[in-house]
Amino acid sequence: MSGDKLIIAVDGPAGAGKSTIAKKIAKILEIEYIDTGAMYRALTLKVIKNGIDSKDSESILKLMESTSICFKDNKIYLDGTRVDKEIRENIINNNVSNVAKIREVREEMVSMQRELSKSNNIIMDGRDIGTVVLPNANFKFFITASVEERAKRRHKELIEKGEKNISYKQVLAEIQKRDKIDSTREVAPLRKSFDSYEIDTTNKTVEECVDEIITIMGGR
Ligand code: C5P
Repeated sequence: MSGDKLIIAVDGPAGAGKSTIAKKIAKILEIEYIDTGAMYRALTLKVIKNGIDSKDSESILKLMESTSICFKDNKIYLDGTRVDKEIRENIINNNVSNVAKIREVREEMVSMQRELSKSNNIIMDGRDIGTVVLPNANFKFFITASVEERAKRRHKELIEKGEKNISYKQVLAEIQKRDKIDSTREVAPLRKSFDSYEIDTTNKTVEECVDEIITIMGGR
């Protein structure tokens, strides 16, 4: 347990509903929400903007030395500029897992994430929160959904954001590829920790999932 503080870890694959659910829980419990995926995405945005290949670890590590990533009022900033919209573009989806599998990148991000967890009650979502970043969290949840359902949600999101030329099939293939990289990488792969509660969101509404989590935690 983490002393008097409330620390909630949420992990799971892309499109399972982690961030939507975590944001709602944060609001209900009046605690801070930290989206660790946004940090890996912000670095990936800089990598792409600098014309660096997402598999070129050496150049990425050099670039990281002169990069600042931080949250202000729940918004993500890259070198002082707010980037919460840009980091959701599909080019980032398709490159972020390569950047996130670099050991030194993870070490840097994990140390920032632990620092962020020190001062407040938080709910943090990602891939390795319950297993690596916050192993002593009070509650751990592993949010899943079938890959078809996750692809359907991501496809809808991308179409709504204006990426009109993307097909469901393409999104499905991209999600499968990202799942594979995230769960087979050497450092901190996506894995359900033994002490986490699994929530399958495939046939549930967001409200049902939120209620289930609040009930597990013993009410509001
Ligand atoms: O959660 P989101 O889909 O925004 O995460 C984007 C990517 O960042 C993931 O696919 C994964 O490669 C990486 N990530 C990670 N560890 C985390 C959070 C995200 O490796 N804690």
